[in-house]
Amino acid sequence: MRSSRDAFTLVEVMIAIMIIGLLAAMAAPAVLKAREKAQTRLCMNNLRVIHTAGEQYLFEHPDDDDITLEELKQFFSNEVIPECPQGGTYQTKVDKGFHVTCTVDGHEL
Ligand SMILES: [Zn+2]
Repeated sequence: MRSSRDAFTLVEVMIAIMIIGLLAAMAAPAVLKAREKAQTRLCMNNLRVIHTAGEQYLFEHPDDDDITLEELKQFFSNEVIPECPQGGTYQTKVDKGFHVTCTVDGHEL
């Protein structure tokens, strides 16, 4: 005959599952926030790299006042332009230097 000490009761298992679920629910917002922060950092890094490429291109073509991302392809490995991890679009502008911005709020140099 099995004694009650051999295994967990249903109530004990349910309480353990409930506690694990509660901890996971408490951790989820922090994990999501950290993920968003990392993606923002990655976008800022992309902007910095594109800005550097744009400045270099502008140095070589001082009369070009409408530099597109396509024209900057040569500066990137495999000619792949970095993309915003949150789906933003990069916009370029030449006005007393080269400027690049992301359409997502908070993604700026
Ligand atoms: Zn972005």
